[in-house]
Amino acid sequence: MQAADGVNRLVSEPDEFGHWGRYGGRYVPETLVAPLEEMTAEFMRAQGDASFWEEFHELLRDFSGRPTPLFRAHRLTEYAGGAQIFLKREDLSHTGSHKINNAVGQALLARRMGKRRIIAETGAGQHGVATATVCALFGLKCIIYMGAEDVRRQALNVFRMRLLGAEVVTVNAGTRTLKDAINEALRDWVTNVHETYYLLGSALGPHPYPLMVREFQSVIGREAREQILQRTGKLPSALVACVGGGSNAIGLFHPFIADGQVRLIGVEAGGRGELLGQHAARFHAAPGSGGHLEGVLHGTRSYVLQDEGGQIATTHSVSAGLDYAAVGPEHAYLHDNGRAEYLSATDDEALQGLKLCAEREGIIPALESSHAILPALNLAKRLTKNDAIIVNLSGRGDKDVQLIASAEDTTA
Ligand SMILES: *Cc1c(COP(=O)(O)O)cnc(C)c1O
Repeated sequence: MQAADGVNRLVSEPDEFGHWGRYGGRYVPETLVAPLEEMTAEFMRAQGDASFWEEFHELLRDFSGRPTPLFRAHRLTEYAGGAQIFLKREDLSHTGSHKINNAVGQALLARRMGKRRIIAETGAGQHGVATATVCALFGLKCIIYMGAEDVRRQALNVFRMRLLGAEVVTVNAGTRTLKDAINEALRDWVTNVHETYYLLGSALGPHPYPLMVREFQSVIGREAREQILQRTGKLPSALVACVGGGSNAIGLFHPFIADGQVRLIGVEAGGRGELLGQHAARFHAAPGSGGHLEGVLHGTRSYVLQDEGGQIATTHSVSAGLDYAAVGPEHAYLHDNGRAEYLSATDDEALQGLKLCAEREGIIPALESSHAILPALNLAKRLTKNDAIIVNLSGRGDKDVQLIASAEDTTA
């Protein structure tokens, strides 16, 4: 079904300029237009090259440990008392989250393009660690931009990146978090574009990144689809995943887009409350909190949290990986056309989800992934045992233990 906006709805493919309806595109300084076109062309060539995908899947298998299991969560299922709950175990991936899938794919592309210097941004440090890891694997120079506030909060990941041979550059501008790190990485890229590849960490940014990152992450959904069919003999009733920039969610959702009976549910960070500045729920900005929801941030058009004057709003989430003012353009599109639904979970709800999963399944999920747990349990309650729900456990919680301990201190 090819619609007037050029998007094929049944497969959710963007037009040739990376637009999903009104969202996406390429809003960048002049100097980046040609490099992005070159990258798009090389990605399209790689997409049609069987040997590229062979190497990609071989690395995901032998280096990263794929396929990740689909785990039947008996005790969470019993707790909810309804649909069977399955966890897609991205937390078991090498380096601890789904980020490695995209890092491997883009590093292979950088190598094809002859680029020897890789730059990346990171918030919580998971993407920085994944990037530093693949750079070590391929012998590429690696520079990671990270906000000073995140460097402080995520000291362990900074140490891991340095151990892997990466240079970590502390960014002292703005709120000293992810947004500022991306600004700085883009500045570096404009200056050094000839020898540098920018390895972006989510389904965000100018075309072709949202498309490319989705393609690399779709391995999650393809595996999950095959695994659930094998286990239950039918498609699941719903998929639930947390949404920061949107890469783990779109990776799980995408291979199910054409299966209209499968509900696609994204969960954003509800933070501390509904006031602008207290959350990162781009699809849930309270009426009167600013209102102008659409905008351009970091090269792409999407839903953007902003004030009345169009200034990018500050955001808050207990999980650094969901703490971002915009969301990937394909999610904006799937939101507007109703194919996917977006809920939010607060910091407290995420902590509750984390504890339930830890105590009832023996798995400590990342705080990001923990946002998906309570909404999934609530949905499971309203379904029957003939239904199955897949929750994407995007990462493991080791990185968050310190933070959880101090959160408990303040609430004790
Ligand atoms: C980075 C991260 C996220 C958020 O990023 P998406 O692109 O929305 O997936 C979610 N979970 C984990 C574990 C992460 O590291």
